[in-house]
Order: sequence, then structure tokens, then C-alpha cells
Amino acid sequence: MKNVRVRFAPSPTGPLHIGGVRTALYNYLFARKHGGKFILRIEDTDQTRFVPGAEEYIIESFDWCGIRFDEGVINGGPFAPYRQSERKSIYRQYAEKLIESGNAYYAFDTPEELNDLRKKQEKEKKTFTYNTVERKRLKNSISLNKKEVDELLEKNTPFVIRFKMPENEMIIMKDLIRGKVEVNTKTLDDKILFKSDGMPTYHLANVVDDHLMEISHVIRGEEWLPSLPLHVMLYRAFNWEAPEFAHLPLLLKPEGSGKLSKRDGDRLGFPVFPLQWKDPVTGEISTGYREEGYFPEAFINMLALLGWNPGDERELFTMDELIEAFSIERVGKSGSKFDPEKAKWFNHQYLIRKSDKELAELFIPVLKEKGVEVKPDAVVKIVGLVKERVNFVHELWDQSYFFFISPAEYDAKAAKKRWRPNSYEQISRLKEIIANIENFSSENIEDVVKKWIDENELGTGAVLNALRLVIVGALKGPHLFDIIALIGKEETLNRIDTGLKILGGKNIS
Ligand code: GLU
Repeated sequence: MKNVRVRFAPSPTGPLHIGGVRTALYNYLFARKHGGKFILRIEDTDQTRFVPGAEEYIIESFDWCGIRFDEGVINGGPFAPYRQSERKSIYRQYAEKLIESGNAYYAFDTPEELNDLRKKQEKEKKTFTYNTVERKRLKNSISLNKKEVDELLEKNTPFVIRFKMPENEMIIMKDLIRGKVEVNTKTLDDKILFKSDGMPTYHLANVVDDHLMEISHVIRGEEWLPSLPLHVMLYRAFNWEAPEFAHLPLLLKPEGSGKLSKRDGDRLGFPVFPLQWKDPVTGEISTGYREEGYFPEAFINMLALLGWNPGDERELFTMDELIEAFSIERVGKSGSKFDPEKAKWFNHQYLIRKSDKELAELFIPVLKEKGVEVKPDAVVKIVGLVKERVNFVHELWDQSYFFFISPAEYDAKAAKKRWRPNSYEQISRLKEIIANIENFSSENIEDVVKKWIDENELGTGAVLNALRLVIVGALKGPHLFDIIALIGKEETLNRIDTGLKILGGKNIS
């Protein structure tokens, strides 16, 4: 394979959608796999759509999820600058070159004139397009003679530069994912390459920069496929070798049809952005994967498999394993349904694989917030007991608060069902047994308690449910004797006392 150089080229028009992160990820994996370079270029030529903070957001997102660039706006490089607004002076000359070679032309039609035409044709149930037919009767350097054009230019009449599409030609293109794509130029319009504000459009700047930055493969979202014929024609007009193209299928709504949007996320309660985003105009806050408690590794793993598959049953991949396994050939042609439950599943997989110590370190700040101070050793043991039950670190609290706080009230439904007429007597007697246990390990407590239940011919379920109720406050939590061993004898006896007092009943033996 030729020297691989790929790029991610976002426009800073708002927060980065997870579809964009996936595009960047596939570029990154491809570059790393082939020992190539990965470039971050900011495409900010459309000044009307510029959103402050968006570029910083994009950079922070990649920093969080571990996608690294070799060149670009973060770390510079041999083709700097990498921000198109700073390359403004470059594009005009390329547009002029196309005029000279007969591949582009000046167009002087005002927006009002074009709007009127659009409206007029709409009335006739037609759609106006500035194409090979229409251009002949519009105000441009094809329809006007040289003198007229020179005069207009001299008078500083505002103009745009348009690509001159050949009239009737089949363009045959190759896409690494879709194979052969064919389009006839007569179905295309004469796109604007250079605007009256002195800025290039996306098409011109994108192609010029990909060429100047020696990009070997353009891997981007499917929404750019309709632009491919124009881009291919531009390479031809410049007499440049075109890069290879791969257009990635869309990320689809969980229901399966249509592009995954922010509204789907709001509706179904999952983020569509890597990080939280605050809209600078409306102040509206959109949640992000980071803030929802996803591990960056899980987020990346999940995204990698939305559209690509390794060809076997494996689902869990580190970044290095993804680099090793990735290939463009295994990217599917059809869109991938986003599955919010599967996203959580990935996080769960990463969470349970973390050591109890690592998890405890992540959980301790949550405990501090709740005002709980406990020895780290105890937290390590506790997270080990409950981690299988959660998808996120913050969910550990709900599964473990009773290790840290003694119940002050009892789940009413559970108490009604499990605190029986003889529970008071049984638990009072059991308290004495527990008070005398010397070896307070989970196994030993369990042995002693179960033996006592057997010897007294009591119902195991009845006794242990009542005991759980006084220890936990509800009928939930991990193995009861693990909880008892962890909170210790003194706390256990205190909880039994409180339970007896609040749940009440009398000694009936
Ligand atoms: N600036 C375009 C975008 O925002 C880049 C498309 C491309 O990769 O060619 O997605």
C-alpha cells in the first residue's frame, strides 16, 4: 500500500456527533494499522456556521477517548497551517487555475436573481439547478463575452466561481466499501467553488487540502457520497492523482431507519455526543458519554463495532487489538442500528474487568460526595461484592449504600411480608448467637447461623429474610453473610437492636 496519510476534517459547527467520532476512529485505526499518519484538519470556511468552542470541544473529545493525531491543529506538522481559515490565501489561485484551464467560470448572478428564478420554476413545478443547460442563459463567463466579463470584474461586481461540469459524461468512481459507483454529469449541477466573501466552499478547500497534504485515503461519512463525483472531477481538472475513497455507512436510529439524531438521544435517554455540550446561544445542555459515566475504552469498543466486524465472534477489543484487527474490507455497506442497551453492556464488561482496587479508587470520590469516609480496604471488598450488578461506577452506590449507612427505616412491603409474628423472638435469639461468634468470617458466620437454624428446626428462608431486613433495610444486596462479615460484629449487633426496636413485636416463647 502507498504511504498512508488519512485525515479527519470536521467543521466546527457544534458538538461532534458520535458518528463523527466513529469516522475519526476508523481513520485512526487504518493509519495505525498501515504505519501511516493521521491528520486533524479544521474545515472552517463557512463563517456563517462557525460555533465558538466547537473546535476545543472536538479536541477534548479525542483526548478523552484516546484517538491521537500525528499532525494537525493540535501538534502542527509539515503541512501547517491545518485550519482552513488560516489557509485562505491558498484557495483563490487554485480556483483561478481552473478558470484558466476552462474547468470553472465566473458567475455574476445575484442571490436575488437566482431566488426569483427558483421561485418562478417552482410555480411551474420544476426545480431550478445551475447546470449545464441553465448556465447558458445566466450571467457568467460562459454566456457573456470576454469584454463584458472584464468590465464586470473591473467594476468589482461580486462573483462566485463555479465548476464547469461536462455536459454528458459518465463518471466512473471506485469506493472501497461500495465498489463501483457511476454517475452521469448531466444529473449534476455547477457547484460553487469560491464564494463572493473570498472564501472557498467545502468542495474546493477539501480537495485542494487533501492534495496538498498528500492524503492517500479519504475515509468519511456516507453523507459525502453525493459530493464524490464533483471531487473526482476536480482531481481530474487539476490533473492530480485522486486519493482512494471509502464512504462509511450511517449510524441509524435504534428503530433502524433514519440517521441517529440528537432527538433520538433525548427521546430514548442516551447521549449522542462524546462529552457534554452547552449550546453557546441557547445555553441548552446535551449530555455526553463521559458525563454519563462511560469508560473511554468501552465507548471506543462500542463505536468500533457499529459498522465494522472482525469476522469472528469477538466483541471486546482494546485499542491495540482494534488496530490489529481492523480492515476497511470488513466495514459493512448498510447502516448500523445504534443500540443503547448494548452501549451499557460494553461499559459493564469493562467495569467488571477492572480490578476491585481500581474500581474502589473510582468509587471513593462518589462516597466522599455522599459524606461517607471508609477505609479503602473495605471499599475494595465491597465493590468486589457488587460490581457484577452495575453498568457504571455511580451505580455502585445504589447497590452498596447499606454497607456504609445503617438502615433508619425499612422497606414497607418487605417488612410486611418478611417480618413475621415470630421474627422478633427469632432475631433476638439469633443476636445472642452472633454476639458469641469469635471468627467473624463470612463462611464461619454462615456455618454457625445455619447450624443454629437447623438445630432449632426453624425455616431458613424466614430467619434469613428477617435478618436481611434488619441488616440491609430491604430484601436486596449480595450474600447476606458477606455483608455481615464486612460491617463487623458491633455494627451487626447495633443494626439488629435498631431493627428489633423499630420493627417491633413481642417475645412469644
Ligand atoms: N468538513 C467536512 C465535515 O464536516 C469533511 C468531510 C470530508 O471528510 O470530506 O464532515
